[in-house]
Amino acid sequence: MVNARIGIGYDIHQLTPGRALVLGGVTIPCEVGLVGHSDADVVLHALTDALLGAIGELDIGELFPNTDPSWRGAASATFVHEALRRVSAAGLRVGNADFAVLAERPRLAPHKPAIRASLANLLGVDVSAVGFKATTNEGIDAIGRGEAIACHAVVLLLPR
Ligand code: MG
Repeated sequence: MVNARIGIGYDIHQLTPGRALVLGGVTIPCEVGLVGHSDADVVLHALTDALLGAIGELDIGELFPNTDPSWRGAASATFVHEALRRVSAAGLRVGNADFAVLAERPRLAPHKPAIRASLANLLGVDVSAVGFKATTNEGIDAIGRGEAIACHAVVLLLPR
């Protein structure tokens, strides 16, 4: 009998002009986007690490190295799908997930319902099982200066 498992994930990416801003699989209109080898979706990277952590697996950087050309420009949903495959193989399923995004810009409130729906769809759970909060960093540090966006993710896995 497999017990419930919990996992935490964190990620941060720098913002720059000329890149698309993708958060939780949703492209958000913005004059800046996140820098990264893949699509740099900081929300899905934090989620991937939370899922992998809950089953005691390697982290996202080890499984999908940013030195591997096959992940250049990759949709980060690919990483989530692989983590979910491993969760399922471990006899587990997602119970719920909760996210906290730190972003000074853009204002995320209008996009929260779409991001939450996208995350629920990716995870195969009801939208009521996904929490998504966005907060600013009160002008403090690189996030507060609008130079980066960070995300914390927590997932609970339950026996299938
Ligand atoms: Mg990342």
